[in-house]
Amino acid sequence: MPAATMRALRKVRPEAGAQIERVEIPRIGPGDALVRVRAASICGTDLHIFKWDPWSASRLKPPVTFGHEFCGTVEQVGAGVEGVAPGDFVSAEMHLNCGHCRQCRLGQPHICKNLKIIGIDQDGCFAEFVRIPAGNLWKIDPAIPEHYAAILDPLGNAVHTVLAGEIAGQTVAVTGCGPIGCMGIAVAKACGCSTVFGIEVNPHRLALAKTFGADYALNPKQENAVAKVLEATDGCGVDVLLEMSGNPAAIHDGFRMLRAGGRASLLGIPSQPVTFDLVADIIFKGATVQGIFGRRMYETWLQATALLKSGRLNLEPLFKERMALEQFQEAFALLERGEAGKILFYPNEDTGLRS
Ligand code: NAD
Ligand code: ZN
Repeated sequence: MPAATMRALRKVRPEAGAQIERVEIPRIGPGDALVRVRAASICGTDLHIFKWDPWSASRLKPPVTFGHEFCGTVEQVGAGVEGVAPGDFVSAEMHLNCGHCRQCRLGQPHICKNLKIIGIDQDGCFAEFVRIPAGNLWKIDPAIPEHYAAILDPLGNAVHTVLAGEIAGQTVAVTGCGPIGCMGIAVAKACGCSTVFGIEVNPHRLALAKTFGADYALNPKQENAVAKVLEATDGCGVDVLLEMSGNPAAIHDGFRMLRAGGRASLLGIPSQPVTFDLVADIIFKGATVQGIFGRRMYETWLQATALLKSGRLNLEPLFKERMALEQFQEAFALLERGEAGKILFYPNEDTGLRS
């Protein structure tokens, strides 16, 4: 049995910052599992929560432990749990669907009307332990490295976006080559796309996009990226736009790079409403535009697992920083500077990182 309390990185008050508190280990009920966190990865959303932007202020109800990307070992299971047992190495789908709304009934639980997110609406994984409904656990195939298991959630966002339409033989523009954009490039390549244009304003990340297999790495701050893409595609534009920045300028550029009849899959989240030339960019183009949210449950998890097992996804360049929970200030500063890949916290093990 675990000790009665644990360390957790918490948003304690409705203001910028966070702190490590000693709190009770979550109690599990029927259908739940308690998971001992091995590695937890920081998402851009966690930086928004840390900085307490308007979205966080409207959504979170402190005190709450944040963090929603992780892997760990099942410690205990509640009554009625089948299919997972103590000792299993797992990750989890942290979006909790209600099971009874119209979308849930239609087999679209990823856009559930009553969706709750662990690490946003209830205590998350920046802690020694996290409580998860056992049905949301995802057992990790032994062929998958432990650090990859910690980022299945954002990898799933990339897989969901890339595989939301045809990809083999297609030309692809990825606008925004942060961690998800870079994984999107790797997935598109692994799935047989022909040419990838990585579009990114941060030079560190543009270099990373190349490492992940972008055939062209274009910085719209330094060159006319739209003209370059059109030139390289015989004036047509790309078949597929994967929008992974949420930046209005990138979104506009992306639609101008898209060929008539192309597919635009939008994952990036703008912080404000974005104006749009609907006629030129969508209607006259006959473009197919898709909003992409989360991961399909659990098709995306199966696809991500299969791709990782195939050995065709090398995500290694994303991992540089491994930290103790206590180093959170340093972690968020690094993330804010746009220099980090996927930063991993190790909340339990004494990794020798703690000073
Ligand atoms: P990130 O912030 O690390 O990456 C975004 C990248 O876009 C950055 O590298 C940034 O430099 C780049 N960018 C900014 N302006 C640009 C421009 N004008 N042209 C080209 N690139 C530009 O974020 P991430 O973790 O990789 O996630 C990608 C996006 O997806 C974010 O907007 C995030 O909020 C969103 N997201 C959406 C979902 C969903 O379910 N829809 C899930 C996770 C993340
Ligand atoms: Zn629902």
